[in-house]
Amino acid sequence: MPVQYDAIVIGSGHNGLTCACYLAKAGLKVLVLEQYHSIGGMTNTEELTLPGFLSDTHAFCLQVANFSPALHELQLARYGFELIYSDPCFTHVFPDGRSISVHRNVDETCHSIAQFSKMDSATWRRLFERFLAVKEQMVRSINSPPPTFADQAALLESLPGGLDEYRFQLQTFRSWCDEMFKAEETKVLFGSWDLHVGASPDDVGGASLAWLFSMVIQHFGNNVVKGGMRNLPLALAGYLQAHNGEIKTGARVSNIIVEDSKAIAVRLVGGEEIEVSRLLASSVDPQHLILDLLGEDQVGMNLANKMRQYELGESVMVVYLALEGPVEYKAGPLAGQSAYVHSTPASLDYFSRLFYEVRRGWLPSEPFVLLCNDSARDPTRVPSGKGLMKLVVQPVPYIIRGDATGRIAGRTWSEAKEPFADYIIDCITRDSIPNLRGKILKRVVHSPEDLEKLMPSAPRGTITHGAFKPYQMGSMRPIPEMGQYRSPVRNVYLCGSGSHPGAGVTMAPGRNAAQIIYQDLHLDFAKTLGTQ
Ligand SMILES: Cc1cc2nc3c(=O)[nH]c(=O)nc-3n(C[C@H](O)[C@H](O)[C@H](O)COP(=O)(O)OP(=O)(O)OC[C@H]3O[C@@H](n4cnc5c(N)ncnc54)[C@H](O)[C@@H]3O)c2cc1C
Repeated sequence: MPVQYDAIVIGSGHNGLTCACYLAKAGLKVLVLEQYHSIGGMTNTEELTLPGFLSDTHAFCLQVANFSPALHELQLARYGFELIYSDPCFTHVFPDGRSISVHRNVDETCHSIAQFSKMDSATWRRLFERFLAVKEQMVRSINSPPPTFADQAALLESLPGGLDEYRFQLQTFRSWCDEMFKAEETKVLFGSWDLHVGASPDDVGGASLAWLFSMVIQHFGNNVVKGGMRNLPLALAGYLQAHNGEIKTGARVSNIIVEDSKAIAVRLVGGEEIEVSRLLASSVDPQHLILDLLGEDQVGMNLANKMRQYELGESVMVVYLALEGPVEYKAGPLAGQSAYVHSTPASLDYFSRLFYEVRRGWLPSEPFVLLCNDSARDPTRVPSGKGLMKLVVQPVPYIIRGDATGRIAGRTWSEAKEPFADYIIDCITRDSIPNLRGKILKRVVHSPEDLEKLMPSAPRGTITHGAFKPYQMGSMRPIPEMGQYRSPVRNVYLCGSGSHPGAGVTMAPGRNAAQIIYQDLHLDFAKTLGTQ
């Protein structure tokens, strides 16, 4: 019997589905295999608290995906994908009730920053103008396979100011901020974005991450998917199925079967084997692919050891809240209208202490919480008049060795997660939302252990398929031997966030991997998409 599938994609996260769509567009018969009972991976939406309350289980806002060519190339609007444009994009609130908001309009943002420093306001505008000058190049570099290290180094050396750019790419956030800004409030406005990818003010590479996040949001927004983030994977699935692709959920791959250095089938947990004739693309985290699905026998000891040393990054905890009604921020209505709110003291040293406590294994004394105003941005997710929020607490220790809150006795996550969530709600009620505690109808907490149980691609409760470090980025992601989406097995590719440009809802690793696969199959990407 002929082999039914030309290509198998492991994992139905948005990157796996994006890659699958481009393969199907080229006429390949594609099957996507997903271990969970529904599709989407870290772009899913579920009734986690109460019936009728639709929580985005993981990601809530789009930043980089706002400028993905995949949105129109895959005609996602035709398959039900619609954005809600948030304004303000995000607000940073301080415990004394003051705040800064980043708006869609740069003048409004500058006005907000000027409350704290007129010089910083002018600096934001200058940085934004610099961003606009390099925007096209930035969009291209995120949505293309990365240049080799040698090509990148040669380019930087040949450009005027190229080595300054290289310095900036390595610079810590603290060093850059001290050069650029006067007010601590402006520094934390930028710097709290680094916490989304687990970078402390003193980690190399933090400056460029904070700059990129802030400027992308200023220009493209921090947008919410109408009806829930799952409408992104559902739209991708719609496109895929319209192009003869198939998806199988509840199908966990236990290993990839390789013969003569070529993948020929996958075996599912339970024993079923599914053959594949041409190629396999994996969007699971790269350690899982290399160490579990392929194994040291296939990839060799050297490469397996490198993947064991791959750094995963920081763990997170998530609290989902169904609310009696809307909440009110101490800082006023703009905070409540923002998609995201960051709430911290106006101090970079606060971030350093947070990372110091967490990296020694302590529950932090002042946790950093990303407040997601789900229902304020999209009321369709809740029954009329009710409210919904999500709190992403990051970083937290994976193994609890101590407690800086002074309130939590448990040293396992099953003992500590509810008391720690109580502590967090108390902090938010005290510092930012006085009526929060009284509004909670139902609370569900996912510890780092819960996250990794639900999602094998969140090892140790990390959310980025590998830490964002300069030595794990670009063509070095996940490791230099696999920095072009190719694995040691010649027809097995990487197409998830463990590859350039990394984590976040971007669709970029999936689309970039497809470009490499097209090259290897001697297909013309632009021609197939009709963009040439
Ligand atoms: C709490 C949280 C909040 C976040 N918030 C944001 C945000 O607001 N904005 C943003 O841009 N990003 C956010 N992110 C990050 C973003 O969601 C992810 O980086 C991105 O969605 C990852 O997509 P992916 O397709 O590469 O991988 P994943 O979504 O991880 O997909 C991998 C898939 O593979 C499946 N899988 C794993 N192993 C197997 C196996 N053996 N067999 C079959 N299937 C398997 C998994 O179940 C999963 O569906 C957040 C992440 C988390 C966890």
